[in-house]
Amino acid sequence: MDYQAKIARNVASIPRSGIRDFFELVQGRDDVISLGVGEPDFVTPWHIREAAIYSLEKGQTTYTSNLGLLSLRKSIARYVESFFGVPYEASKEVLVTVGVSEAIDIALRALINPGDEVIYHEPCYVSYSPSIVMAHGVAVPVVTTKEDGFSLKPERLAAVITPRSRILMLNFPTNPTGACASREDLEGIAKLAIEHDLIVLTDEIYSELRYDGEKHVSIASLPGMKERTILLHGFSKAFAMTGFRLGYACAPQPIIEAMMKIHQYAMLCAPIMSQNAAIEALENGTAAMLEMRKSYHQRRDFLVKRLNEIGLECHTPGGAFYVFPDIRSTGLSSKDFAFRLLEEENVACVPGGAFGPSGEGFLRCCYATAFDDIRTATDRIEAFVGRLKSK
Ligand code: PLP
Repeated sequence: MDYQAKIARNVASIPRSGIRDFFELVQGRDDVISLGVGEPDFVTPWHIREAAIYSLEKGQTTYTSNLGLLSLRKSIARYVESFFGVPYEASKEVLVTVGVSEAIDIALRALINPGDEVIYHEPCYVSYSPSIVMAHGVAVPVVTTKEDGFSLKPERLAAVITPRSRILMLNFPTNPTGACASREDLEGIAKLAIEHDLIVLTDEIYSELRYDGEKHVSIASLPGMKERTILLHGFSKAFAMTGFRLGYACAPQPIIEAMMKIHQYAMLCAPIMSQNAAIEALENGTAAMLEMRKSYHQRRDFLVKRLNEIGLECHTPGGAFYVFPDIRSTGLSSKDFAFRLLEEENVACVPGGAFGPSGEGFLRCCYATAFDDIRTATDRIEAFVGRLKSK
């Protein structure tokens, strides 16, 4: 049978994730230091794990409401109001999802009609463009540059808006660059969203991980924006809960209702033990989260300093746990650099090109890795770059 002919065209047209392809090569190799996968090296704090275990002990092994446990939605609403300054009604404006990944997918499917344009800033998280295409939308990237600290400038956004534009996707702090947006830029972006009647999908997954005492501002908190914003957040990064697969969406009720219909048929609900653990994370997890953040902050400072010393120019990212050094001075493509670094020095980083064409010439290094490993990895990168430059 010609299976390729049986695969839906929009699915056949999207590539596999460049990150996953690369990490299949890493699997099974000894002595590799990975600055690759964007996942905390911390185990989920014990009191949160214990809440999941206790949930099982009590025999809580059932489905929950499609929207998620009301007690969790109440915790989410309280947390979102205190952290982002945006109030949502727990009973109808909050939907618990299987990670932010599911929330992105169902938000796009709930809003896109075939041919609608969805704008996002690039380099960006690997799922954005494929998720838009799978929802039959048209992916419209706006390039962000090293010179702008990889933040989205309103004038660059204005240049790509057309009458078909329907959604703007934002992600600050950004995966893979760690970029943050200033309040001033967010205000400019909000003005354009209102003028052009765009729905804004803001992926806030790294919002707790801001450094240097900077306070995170979400576009949802700006005047006139709550009504046109879907705020997505989750537990994977700040609470080190990737395996719990839990996230949420906060939005006006008709949008939550539309997303819930897809969620109800495709997923039914998020796992109940993860939901119980998430309540514990929101109610009592801040101290552990701040400890992890302190450690990421120290690692960021060390890694940025070392990469600049090595001659791989690197801006200081304001958030998340990634740095995005410029490797163009080595003359290698990002893929060749990453493959050779892995082959010759056993250090895994992700080629910048995996995050869209504008990521080419850069490398993503994740510093959610033990400090000593980061130190050894930078020594190995130094040796590798030294050899390249001496040729
Ligand atoms: N959004 C961004 C920007 C991410 O970097 C990631 C994971 O790396 C996700 C969403 C997926 O998060 P989750 O584990 O909640 O599905």
